[in-house]
Amino acid sequence: MRNKSETCTRCGACCATYSVKFFRHELDSAPGGWVPTALTDAIDDAIVRMRGTGHRPRRCVALRGTIGVAVKCEIYRERPSPCRAFAPEAGIGHGDARCGDARRRHDLPPLMGSYDAFPLA
Ligand code: SF4
Ligand code: SF4
Repeated sequence: MRNKSETCTRCGACCATYSVKFFRHELDSAPGGWVPTALTDAIDDAIVRMRGTGHRPRRCVALRGTIGVAVKCEIYRERPSPCRAFAPEAGIGHGDARCGDARRRHDLPPLMGSYDAFPLA
């Protein structure tokens, strides 16, 4: 059975599909924060977004490699909370709606457990 790392390092679709927004307190420029500030853009006083995920074609600036072949998150240990929470069962081969939508957008088959809806534009 593949673990999360093995499943997702052959994919990366979610990192090139969604807008990755999170609270500013996660930035390494804030006390106790950890996400590299230099790789983000401010949205407002409270919210920031991973650079590259704001407009289509989206691709997070921290993503390396080729989607569907081999990818790596350059800041895996410092990734923001939405990335940590995304599709938590992908590692045991279970997707969810957003994981499946992202994979289909990149011509990859959904994992078991994904739904059949495409994301809204
Ligand atoms: S879309 Fe799903 S399988 Fe692909 S990297 Fe994201 S969580 Fe992993
Ligand atoms: S920070 Fe890493 S896990 Fe999160 S969207 Fe960017 S490449 Fe993907």
